[in-house]
Amino acid sequence: MNHEFDAISRLFQQRTPFQHPTTQVGNGDDASTHKIPDGFELVVSTDTAVEAVHWPQDMPLDIASNRAINAALSDLAAMGATPAWLWLAIMAKDATSLSSMSDGIVQACLTHKVELAGGDTVRSSTNTINVTVGGLLPKGQAMLRAHAQVSDNVWLLGNIGLAAAGLKQWFKGDKKGCFVPYFQHIKPLYQQGIALRKLGIRCCIDISDGLLQDAGHIAKSSALGLHVDLAHIQNLACYQQLLAHFDKETSLKKVLSGGEDYALLCTAPKSQQRVLQNMHAQHIGTCVKGDGVHLIHEGKIVDYNIKGYDHFA
Ligand code: ADP
Ligand code: MG
Repeated sequence: MNHEFDAISRLFQQRTPFQHPTTQVGNGDDASTHKIPDGFELVVSTDTAVEAVHWPQDMPLDIASNRAINAALSDLAAMGATPAWLWLAIMAKDATSLSSMSDGIVQACLTHKVELAGGDTVRSSTNTINVTVGGLLPKGQAMLRAHAQVSDNVWLLGNIGLAAAGLKQWFKGDKKGCFVPYFQHIKPLYQQGIALRKLGIRCCIDISDGLLQDAGHIAKSSALGLHVDLAHIQNLACYQQLLAHFDKETSLKKVLSGGEDYALLCTAPKSQQRVLQNMHAQHIGTCVKGDGVHLIHEGKIVDYNIKGYDHFA
């Protein structure tokens, strides 16, 4: 008996029997093969999560691995793609860690009905998960960071700031803190992403490094400026939720630059205001001529200097 192949089969392959209809060669060979249906294109993204960098060392590994898959699926949401497959490279300190991580991964595959189409399993001094996700999208309909237009409104779907608050509670030892679940259980908003794409929305990003930082990617790629309205931010239910536990400055900082939110930010012409409101999107700003992201209060730019997460700062 080979322990490695036995573990791969028992922990991963046998527990993820789902195969996407487009798959021709699934898990178990040197590679998987998939047919792309006519009129569709393949969307691929990869993400890495490292213990003590992307999740606290003392957080359960099934939760950490589940987060890693959901975070990767959030990138497909931002493109408007339907998730189909994932490929996993997993580095585990020992057999117990591998087993725990497999639980969270299997759970994510079953929840989202994505196929675990292949992987690689190795031992390492640091528990690490790399996940590559693949999805399908009608040709030419990807929502891109470069597609914002001057005078578009800026819309938010999902919560911001709550995950960062949860991480803070965890580090303070409040492991059952009210915000901790927002950090631990990411809900990738691909249903919303698909709905936005179907509405004809052309520009979207998922917020993983903080609202202002990720909004900056849209501004740069689309060669325009983004005005984020402070009054709209203060109206968000998630901001109000934070205010019940933190002071104003801390709450605002979390909402604007907290990170780990996996909410969606999109831009749309004013004509789409009604349909976006019907989707519970929150209007938070406007695209303008110029550059950068600016916080606006009563029509004036507020000097606000907070940065999102930077791995190399
Ligand atoms: P190779 O040596 O050809 O790269 P491996 O021996 O590493 O393949 O893996 C054997 C098979 O098991 C492959 O089909 C691979 O995709 C799959 N596999 C390995 N690790 C995992 C995992 N963690 N989850 C799912 N499938 C895996
Ligand atoms: Mg091989």
